[in-house]
Amino acid sequence: MSAEGPTAAGTSQDRGREDERPDQDPALHQVPTDLFIGGSWVPAGSGERFDVADPATGRTLARVADAGPQDGMRALEAAAEAQAELAASSPRQRADWLNAAYQAVMDRADELALVMTLEMGKPLAEAKGEVTYAAEFLRHFAGEALRIEGGYQRSPAGDGRFLLMRQPVGPALLITPWNFPMAMGTRKIGPAIAAGCTSVIKPAQQTPLSMLALVDILAEVGVPAGAVNAVTTTHAGAVMEPMIRSGLARKLSFTGSTKVGKALLEQAAERVMRTSMELGGNAPFIVFEDADLDDAVAGAMAAKMRNMGEACTAANRIYVHESVAEAFGEKLSAQMAARTVGPGTREGVTVGPLIDEAARDKVRDLVQDAVDRGAQVLTGGEVPDGEGWFYPPTVLTGVSPDARMGSEEIFGPVAPLTPFSTEAEVVRLANDTPFGLVSYVYTRDLDRSLRMAEALETGMVGLNQGVVSNPAAPFGGVKESGLGREGGAVGIEEFLEMKYVGIAGPRPAQEG
Ligand code: NAP
Repeated sequence: MSAEGPTAAGTSQDRGREDERPDQDPALHQVPTDLFIGGSWVPAGSGERFDVADPATGRTLARVADAGPQDGMRALEAAAEAQAELAASSPRQRADWLNAAYQAVMDRADELALVMTLEMGKPLAEAKGEVTYAAEFLRHFAGEALRIEGGYQRSPAGDGRFLLMRQPVGPALLITPWNFPMAMGTRKIGPAIAAGCTSVIKPAQQTPLSMLALVDILAEVGVPAGAVNAVTTTHAGAVMEPMIRSGLARKLSFTGSTKVGKALLEQAAERVMRTSMELGGNAPFIVFEDADLDDAVAGAMAAKMRNMGEACTAANRIYVHESVAEAFGEKLSAQMAARTVGPGTREGVTVGPLIDEAARDKVRDLVQDAVDRGAQVLTGGEVPDGEGWFYPPTVLTGVSPDARMGSEEIFGPVAPLTPFSTEAEVVRLANDTPFGLVSYVYTRDLDRSLRMAEALETGMVGLNQGVVSNPAAPFGGVKESGLGREGGAVGIEEFLEMKYVGIAGPRPAQEG
């Protein structure tokens, strides 16, 4: 983060820095804890703050400004005021801001990763991976800012011309979850700035620090006052709803649970806002009998254990052909059991704590439910004693399709294995869910690969790979997993409106 002393965003005093961090970790010490409105760090109007805790220990890391509805509206007004100026800025200028932010995030990747690990729990190496992934969205959309295309064509009758232009949608509300506290932000802020949309971002209350650090960097590299505003709060509904209903915001981009996403869609309908929804998943991971089993196990480890299983893309149901189910279960269990559980800051740890007590209890209950319905525990399955919200890597075999974890996101390091016998059967099982974010298929048969990719009702398919996330690819779901795409060449479209100008003529030249 920035060195002590004045910065584009203000001095260390006016960001609520010194006395709001019981923990004196130098990385935390540099993170702002106030709201960022109209280019200034300001406390909440009420003066209220809330604690951000380390899920590995429960200790308080920082006390962050707790915005109320009026603070939210002030932030939105600042965004609306800055909209015309940002829209008028040149694409090259917006690309330069994003590239500078990319570089600044990369330069500070170690500090930012530590902040992320402390507030969210993931091991440091994974946090660093997320910081890099987050930065890549800034770099990717710096490029996209320069490629906003229009069009010119003759009308079908030949007597007129169509001019097509893309313009920024307008001020955007961006709401992000706790599981990827920085990347889910840059996946929205990047295209918003690239398109020329100002924004108010509201990070999850459990992980606001990564976002505040990022916003600090954006201010530092010269993103104009009001172009990006940040509001932290423990009253998400009360703060966001008036903003959504105000008519001042023209775009709502949300990443989080399907339940909250549905409520927000209803609110956004009042003003017919443009919406993007990245919602929950229930990913099937399918291993056919001809798969390279070691590759499939490595893929399952990635798809299951990234972020301790707290990912919308996490393999939630693992279907293995009955002829290789036992061998796959043994190999997977050996790798799961070899993982080291502990605080993400500790060297050698590969599985950090879950986000909070409720999350840990939910995982425990889902495992119990599966066992009650006949599943066997191959490894893990016991909540460890001691502080922190840890759950061990767990493999269950013989999981009944009607176990609760077949229809609910586990969001924990639990791999449920279910055998299948035919391709038709596994397609039916995989699609038997209201969700449709991602699916994974392991097979070496090209025909079957293509049949599966076409038959699976998901927005993304990982073919012989356990991770699909890539800033240059369109990320998103179908069915109740969401609307719209983030990343790729289309990610910027979510923040652009197409305008058509109908032009009469041209009339023939009058000679002489
Ligand atoms: P969540 O409870 O829906 O919260 C997500 C965000 O919405 C948080 O910032 C939250 O604030 C805010 N929020 C909650 N209630 C709100 C309301 N009434 N009005 C406005 N905002 C509200 O989800 P989560 O538990 O943080 O995240 C996990 C979920 O996100 C999972 O379902 C996961 O699959 C999904 N997810 C999806 C993707 C994707 O790209 N498809 C990526 C990551 C995660 P508070 O923190 O204050 O509650």
